Amino acid sequence: MTDDAGSPSNPPPPTAGAPDDLAAALLARCEGDLAGALEVLGAARDAVAAAQQRHESARQAVHKAMRRLGHAHQAAEQPMPRQTMRSLYWDHPDVRADEIAKAFEVRGGAGLLAPLVGPDEREVACAGGCGRTMVRRKRNRTDAKMLTCEYCQREAQQAAAERRAWLEQHEADWNAAYDRWASQVEALAAEGVFSGRVLVEHPDIPGVWRLDRHGRAERVD
Ligand SMILES: [Zn+2]
Repeated sequence: MTDDAGSPSNPPPPTAGAPDDLAAALLARCEGDLAGALEVLGAARDAVAAAQQRHESARQAVHKAMRRLGHAHQAAEQPMPRQTMRSLYWDHPDVRADEIAKAFEVRGGAGLLAPLVGPDEREVACAGGCGRTMVRRKRNRTDAKMLTCEYCQREAQQAAAERRAWLEQHEADWNAAYDRWASQVEALAAEGVFSGRVLVEHPDIPGVWRLDRHGRAERVD
């Protein structure tokens, strides 16, 4: 930042306490804060783009190394390394399944890779955030189901039931209040309090109400 005190976009800090000076100083500070925050955001965006590029290059390098390993197995007339293929498929989800299939010559391609390497079983944390762990079994990578333990499932059901009950009660209370207010407006209308008026307000009754020609009240705001 250069010190360009006095320029229209960056006025000097106020010397007197006049409200105009304070407002201008606040404005300048807020604009400066926004520019600074945008600069940080831009740097973070560049870092993300660079990291993505590095990740993509590393992934391509893995694909190439897999192909070389596949060729080496072929040249040595060895069966394809099932454990390595399994680890590549399950432990490295960013290594493309079609590249694994191609490198190790899986007949039928990526679609037959999962049945070939077998399902994955590993301990995962409960999605409910309780800290418990459980065994998740996946048959292929696209199975993204989150596991929630019985305790968290019960908690979630109970919370949902409580929420529903609260909403129902709230709605019932609101409807009862509405009916009460409407009948108060109608009673006042019958006494001629709002004679000749369509839109009515009353200090004791919330909202603005419309009276139809039968004296029925309907809230309009
Ligand atoms: Zn849980």
